[in-house]
Amino acid sequence: MGKTGYFTHRDCWKHEMGAGHPECPQRLDAIEDRLLITGVGDALDRREAPQAGLADIELAHTRMHVAALRGLSQQLVEDIQAGGPPYAQIDPDTAINPYTWDAALRAAGAALAATDAILSGELENAFCAVRPPGHHACHDHAMGFCFFNNVAIAAKYALERHGLQRVAIVDFDVHHGNGTEDILSGDERVLMVGIFQHPFYPYSGTEHPARNMLNLPVPAYTRGMDVREMIEAAWIPRLEAFRPEMVFISAGFDAHREDDLGQLGLTEQDFAWITWRVREVARRHAQGRIVSCLEGGYNLGALGRSVEAHIRVLADL
Ligand SMILES: [Zn+2]
Repeated sequence: MGKTGYFTHRDCWKHEMGAGHPECPQRLDAIEDRLLITGVGDALDRREAPQAGLADIELAHTRMHVAALRGLSQQLVEDIQAGGPPYAQIDPDTAINPYTWDAALRAAGAALAATDAILSGELENAFCAVRPPGHHACHDHAMGFCFFNNVAIAAKYALERHGLQRVAIVDFDVHHGNGTEDILSGDERVLMVGIFQHPFYPYSGTEHPARNMLNLPVPAYTRGMDVREMIEAAWIPRLEAFRPEMVFISAGFDAHREDDLGQLGLTEQDFAWITWRVREVARRHAQGRIVSCLEGGYNLGALGRSVEAHIRVLADL
């Protein structure tokens, strides 16, 4: 089988939202450290993420949203030079620093470059170790640590720029991928399957989702075995019937039982199982093509181990 790519960029370390914020640059260090000490990193085709072009970002976002974020970023730099505060707040949990704009372009660019490399046959699949994450970013606004919706942008790019007809999105972050749903709801070329803690932030995903959205809300403290059963019964038949030509994963690891931002009971073995099941679908219908993008995951140890387990399955290690 083909190679697994690993896309990242130093700019993704420079974005940060203040001391003590869980969505911190050390998350990427935890992943890199784990891949280094286990040797898993040596098996990957490591690539530098380019900046996404604005025209591609606007496949998923309004021009107003993109311009507003760029304007806020430029204003922040000017304000800092004039002695102002180092961050501009977007919502209580979400802020930009002077590097956020570049990091957001690299995060989306990683997903686009991975899509290109996979569709050209250079890689079979890829993991994008990027931040900021994306799945809460809506069509016209940023929220919940997210600015641009990396997975939704890449899915639209695969459809519009590469001419694919069916792409699937798998989201196993502990939080509902409301931004992805906002952008792709009703687009029958896309099937999105998700599982998330409910009721929980962002308190969406249960009220009349569109036909192309398969949402599995689960209560706090649900264990991995129950999650696996639900995925087997609900996701897999829909994915098999849909026959996606490519699969995108919103890979959030905050459903891990050691992660304090959520209250689900998954372990790295569960993430490996989910990855394996999705890879089976991708190999059957999509020539194994998977682009996986980092979303949540805030317990640094659990994050490193979970990403390692996820990548081991992608890369057949
Ligand atoms: Zn999350």
